[in-house]
Amino acid sequence: MSSRMRITSGKARTRRSHHGIDAPRLSTCVKCGSFHLRHRMCDTCGTYKDRQVIDINAKIEKKNERRVAKMKSLGIDPNAKDKKEAPLDVKKLSEKKKK
Ligand SMILES: [Zn+2]
Repeated sequence: MSSRMRITSGKARTRRSHHGIDAPRLSTCVKCGSFHLRHRMCDTCGTYKDRQVIDINAKIEKKNERRVAKMKSLGIDPNAKDKKEAPLDVKKLSEKKKK
């Protein structure tokens, strides 16, 4: 049987000095100028190496269609926007207090 060697705190800290996470290396897109991962397609415009790979607009349209279909199945009107409350009026608020 061998006795395990003691790992000193300094040795552990030296080993853990490589555990930190770096920020991802990003490149700028040639077409739209947004950041994307290296050797990956640009998520914003769908190009890779100045060449169109994916039709992003078609993808967004398809996603929207799916969203509308889901909302219809749930019985929600997809075109209805959230009703915003009318801005507070000082006179109306004071009238409520008097009553
Ligand atoms: Zn792009």
